[in-house]
Amino acid sequence: MRWKEQLLTLTPYQPGKSIDAVKKQFKLEKIVKLASNENPFGCSPAVVEALQTNLSGLAIYPDGYATHLREKLSEFLNVDEEELILGNGSDNLIQIISRSLLHPNASTIMATPSFSQYKHNAVIEGAVVKELPLINGEHDLEAMLAAIDEQTNVIWVCSPNNPTGTYIPENKLIPFLDKVPPHILVVLDEAYFEYVVAEDYYDSIRLTRKYENLIVLRTFSKIYGMAALRVGYGVANRAIIKVLEPVREPFNVNSLGQLGAIAAINDQEFVEVCKEKNRQGLSQFYDFCEQNQLDYYPSQTNFILIDLKVDGDVAFQFLQEKGYIVRSGKALGFPTAVRITVGSSEQNEGVLQALSEFL
Ligand code: PMP
Repeated sequence: MRWKEQLLTLTPYQPGKSIDAVKKQFKLEKIVKLASNENPFGCSPAVVEALQTNLSGLAIYPDGYATHLREKLSEFLNVDEEELILGNGSDNLIQIISRSLLHPNASTIMATPSFSQYKHNAVIEGAVVKELPLINGEHDLEAMLAAIDEQTNVIWVCSPNNPTGTYIPENKLIPFLDKVPPHILVVLDEAYFEYVVAEDYYDSIRLTRKYENLIVLRTFSKIYGMAALRVGYGVANRAIIKVLEPVREPFNVNSLGQLGAIAAINDQEFVEVCKEKNRQGLSQFYDFCEQNQLDYYPSQTNFILIDLKVDGDVAFQFLQEKGYIVRSGKALGFPTAVRITVGSSEQNEGVLQALSEFL
């Protein structure tokens, strides 16, 4: 069975060494982790307060319908409550979509390199995976359309894309959506949406009204700084949500996550401040790359992929010994690059100083 053989090719997710393990190994006082695109400024103080004042209900199962968060999101995004699905992080939504739609007789299309979980889940479901290489860091949407076959039922689009940080402009996304046959689901993963500053970006939520085969995924793990609480959401028309809901675990979003996400939405000022600090942080990286003639992709996210033209693992090791944990590009499909999360201005200065010692 092709399906079972495919499963044997998978390795479980390896989160890498803990901060404490790295500290001990290299006898370092301080470690800065710039590897998982978390928010260096944490979450809004309003989130912490909401959690602290609501710690008494831990014996009770969470609200399986996330009633209050659903209401809040529906008002915030101006969509109906039935047009939303909540996930234990957007990872969980990727899993739910794959479990609902993919199977050994289905084929699914994605860009490569892109976020690893699309392929991982598709392989688990036994689907045929068609990976189309990025061109200059961007999705090759024409090639993705050309790869559609009779069995295709899900296309994954990551914008902004992890690990390149690049986005798809509106004038490319719309003609693509126009050409995807309506029976194929397009998953638009916008985990980094709130960081986008590009003016020719699209209003994806509005697009879900026009394209009934589109689902948009977002998360509270990135700019909202709530990665530990695991909350993500999907927006699509109700017919799609209806197909996905039966696959969702009954209590997939925990109570504290639901409360935290409501408080987080209420503090949009925090989001704006983080977006601006990230923009300034990115320019520290751009300046460094220009000064050192290093290639990079301009990023719409809180990370940057820099080509060092040497083995990414070697650069990773060097930076780790200096107390900075980044991601080697090797496991991300860019063997001579590193992906660095934009930190606070001080953290950025520190990692760039260490990088200049490496060059
Ligand atoms: N999509 C993309 C593109 C990501 O980079 C990530 C996080 N690394 C996720 C989805 C999953 O995020 P979460 O499950 O924390 O919402």
